[in-house]
Amino acid sequence: MIADDSLLIRAVVQAALEAEGYQVMLAEDGRTALQQCQSRPPDVILLDIVMPGLDGYQVLAELKNDPALSHIPVVFLTGRTGMADVVAGLRAGAHDYLKKPFEPEELLARVGSALHVKQLQDHLRDRNAALDRISRTDALTGLYNRRHLNEVLALRYADARRHGDPFSVLLLDIDRFKRVNDTYGHPTGDLVLCEFARRLKHELRAGDIAGRWGGEEFLVILPRTGASGVLEVAERIRAATAATPIIAGEAHLTVTVSGGCCSGPGDSPEDLLRCVDTRLYQAKAGGRNLIVAADVKVGG
Ligand code: GH3
Ligand code: MG
Ligand code: MG
Repeated sequence: MIADDSLLIRAVVQAALEAEGYQVMLAEDGRTALQQCQSRPPDVILLDIVMPGLDGYQVLAELKNDPALSHIPVVFLTGRTGMADVVAGLRAGAHDYLKKPFEPEELLARVGSALHVKQLQDHLRDRNAALDRISRTDALTGLYNRRHLNEVLALRYADARRHGDPFSVLLLDIDRFKRVNDTYGHPTGDLVLCEFARRLKHELRAGDIAGRWGGEEFLVILPRTGASGVLEVAERIRAATAATPIIAGEAHLTVTVSGGCCSGPGDSPEDLLRCVDTRLYQAKAGGRNLIVAADVKVGG
């Protein structure tokens, strides 16, 4: 993007850039430049300092304030000779500057370097986002992992407390899963975990967050859900799991799951986790294929 109130500068710079194959956007003042950036962010902005309305420093400040635009490199076009302006621009976050009048070679060199930096930064940001996703995902089932669940639990719990909303947690554990491994082998066990994860996701509502808590244990966080709501969800998952055998090669495996649910707010997220753990244990002791919530036991 070329943002300059001088028609001549815009035309000269545009011609030089287009001759190199760049696509150019033009803005004749600061306000227009910002509006265009918002609707179609450019890769580099060549920004004049002295313009009517918003000057270059103000445009730069607004860009830096906007997380969606702050990473676009800005090259100041300055007609001023004073070093103070250049320093002020760089301090405010400009990537580089060009002093008018400039040779096309210098223009192209500075734009090229700004683009190069932008590409490296974009690449790094994408990689970081991918790594962040991986660090929160269970590799086997594709569900969230325990690390992400812990983070979400703390955040959602705090939200619920602040707003006085109901809040529930459900811990599920596949019954006698060791037998699946022992009888059919570990790969079949893995397949059962994946299929259970898929069904679990299918049974949940949009706002519920499910993940693999460990081994064959799955945790579901249910914001804005009270005791009856979580029990209904838990019972639906239990019944659906028992109802349809999981097919693994020749074998049709009837898998059941037990669960404990607990509704907040309670004293803390840890409190809720202790509570669901105890209830899950009661469900196992009570014969499995069972959901335990407070004093209620539901299941087969
Ligand atoms: P219970 O009904 O009491 O929960 O019995 P269980 O056999 O399900 O429980 P136990 O804790 O004795 O055994 C869990 C088994 O889950 C043991 C472990 O090897 C297996 N397991 C844990 N993670 C994985 C995995 O990623 N893949 C497979 N195939 N098995 C796993
Ligand atoms: Mg188990
Ligand atoms: Mg277990």
